[in-house]
Amino acid sequence: MDQKKLKTFRDRLVQKKVEILDAYNKNKTYGKEADGEGAQDIADKASSSYTKEFLFSLSNSERDQLQLVDEALGRIDHRRFGTCVACEDEMNLKRLEAVPWAKHCISCQEKQEQGLL
Ligand SMILES: [Zn+2]
Repeated sequence: MDQKKLKTFRDRLVQKKVEILDAYNKNKTYGKEADGEGAQDIADKASSSYTKEFLFSLSNSERDQLQLVDEALGRIDHRRFGTCVACEDEMNLKRLEAVPWAKHCISCQEKQEQGLL
């Protein structure tokens, strides 16, 4: 995959991460005075290492998605992005465009959903 495409995917993944953290932060600060801390700051603070408490306080779906997004960012760094983690086939670009954090190709995804992977 060329660098330009990779960068586009990276941007979308980072944006998704910010969205998850922002939604989490809004929930958490509900009822409190909203301060000026932007989602980007939170993403920066949280990016290097998540504390156990932080991860624990996320809902399961937020945590799962955050993990998928982080793994996808890691695959970009390790030049493995766009390759199915199970069968190592190249993934369909349309699938990646729809779900940039997908880690399985469609056939492996189906196997996983059926509990065969
Ligand atoms: Zn596969």
